[in-house]
Amino acid sequence: MNVIVIGSGLSGLTSAALMAQKNHSVILFEQNETIGGITATIEKDGYKWDWGQMLIPDLSQGEPGRKILEQLGVSDMVQVVKSYRENYFPDFRISRPETYRGIYWRKDYFKELFPENAEGLEKYYKIYDRIHDIMALSNKNDLLSKIKLFVKFLPLMRKKNWSAYELMEYCFPGNEKLHMVFMGILADYVSSPKTFPGLIIPTINAESQYDERVPLDYGKHEHRSSWTYIINGTGSLVEALATAAKKYNVEIKTNRAISKIRIKNGKVIGTETENGEVFDTDIVIASGGARELFLELVGKEHLSQEYINTYLQNLEITESVFMVHLGVDYDPSVYQNSAALCYYYLGYDIENTIKECKEGKYHEGEEGFLAYIPSKHSPQMAPSGQHSITIYTIAPNNPVNGTWENNKVEWAEKLLDIAEEFIPGLRGHEQTRIVLTPEDFRERTYLDYHAFGGTVPHLKVPPPPHKTPIEGLWFVGAQSENFGGVTGAMTGALDTVNQIFKD
Ligand SMILES: Cc1cc2nc3c(=O)[nH]c(=O)nc-3n(C[C@H](O)[C@H](O)[C@H](O)COP(=O)(O)OP(=O)(O)OC[C@H]3O[C@@H](n4cnc5c(N)ncnc54)[C@H](O)[C@@H]3O)c2cc1C
Repeated sequence: MNVIVIGSGLSGLTSAALMAQKNHSVILFEQNETIGGITATIEKDGYKWDWGQMLIPDLSQGEPGRKILEQLGVSDMVQVVKSYRENYFPDFRISRPETYRGIYWRKDYFKELFPENAEGLEKYYKIYDRIHDIMALSNKNDLLSKIKLFVKFLPLMRKKNWSAYELMEYCFPGNEKLHMVFMGILADYVSSPKTFPGLIIPTINAESQYDERVPLDYGKHEHRSSWTYIINGTGSLVEALATAAKKYNVEIKTNRAISKIRIKNGKVIGTETENGEVFDTDIVIASGGARELFLELVGKEHLSQEYINTYLQNLEITESVFMVHLGVDYDPSVYQNSAALCYYYLGYDIENTIKECKEGKYHEGEEGFLAYIPSKHSPQMAPSGQHSITIYTIAPNNPVNGTWENNKVEWAEKLLDIAEEFIPGLRGHEQTRIVLTPEDFRERTYLDYHAFGGTVPHLKVPPPPHKTPIEGLWFVGAQSENFGGVTGAMTGALDTVNQIFKD
């Protein structure tokens, strides 16, 4: 078969390499000059940064992301390291203790802070363990696992349609601080606690993220997913997958935007580039934005109104980010318990923060930010003895209180003003700087509307499936997966390739 892949992010590269490994003839088109999409390495003056990725799930031995690298013969090219993250709140912080205090040390710590919620914390952590078991079992196909999964899920049946807010109220009624501890991460997704599925909350608050000494196997529980940093950044994953793609003879064409999917009688017959080149094909595997693909490259005339209503009209995607990369000649991690990553939450009103971002109000850093220092785990990402650090925060694509072009410099200074209240000396030690606005992200990803995390899990709105209504057209990548995600982009590509061969 002739296969065309659109996009050289992790989903496109994985799809291309896997299809070519099965001896199909694959051409991959990328509109940028360089491959890697949002996971390429950014370099300046000897410093390296990612486009914002930090902790990555499921890349350790035996886990789904690692298995794909092994299948493609490039596992040696990607090393990961376990570590921890910190969280700051206005009147307490979650800090990995120097001496290990056991799997549930955070629960004990929260009980000290909020003794009135001791019972609720027990309830939450029971649900936590159950959900993580269910997650692990849902990846297994044997009958016994399916039975176990059913039994595990039964006590949660009544809660299955609960929103994140309902789950928090059930566990910690009226305690906005504990709500923020577990729902703060929803700010990343710019997703309302009232529509985000409650039972997903424990999965995005894995205890091992806060302390790498928390084991992934304990008691009678199923194996928990690992969360790791990629040594030398996500660019090493891009390099590994590109190596595999080239090994299997994928032809990679950069600087080539696909502007049209050619369709005849409901079936894909080819693609057309922006400058009018036509390529015939049997299969197209497209990454990128759902609306961009279906409404622009395919065209409404090929889709039913029902498909448009279900998957495109109400598609829940995240907003964008505003990011400052710095190269500094000191170690800024001393202000965050030596952690590579710290989230600084500066308020407790998560619902309002999200609402305002969706309405286009850029908060100029006042609602919070995160600081990520990749050179902590990968010293090769900065000149010897120095550090690369990324400060960023959620931001609307189109701010109503200014434009990115006009305000970029001023807003970078404001974000750093706030960051320096917690990490003094950033600008005093600055050696180099790159500022990235949502416009830069839009340009890099070829999205009309940049969605930093792809599709948001929603109680009522599913992401568009990999198999599309057009025969031979398949959809992969961040907007085809709940959360998107580094490993999600790869495993979604594998599922798609498997489905193509089942079809
Ligand atoms: C700031 C930030 C932080 C993140 N943090 C994390 C994290 O900590 N952990 C985690 O697991 N995930 C994280 N993610 C998510 C993860 O990086 C993405 O979900 C994943 O990399 C998406 O891969 P992709 O292949 O779908 O998309 P992309 O990497 O966006 O690749 C799509 C490619 O397709 C190209 N393209 C699109 N349309 C066309 C066209 N018509 N013609 C030609 N080329 C086209 C684009 O140019 C682009 O190169 C983060 C993402 C961002 C932006």
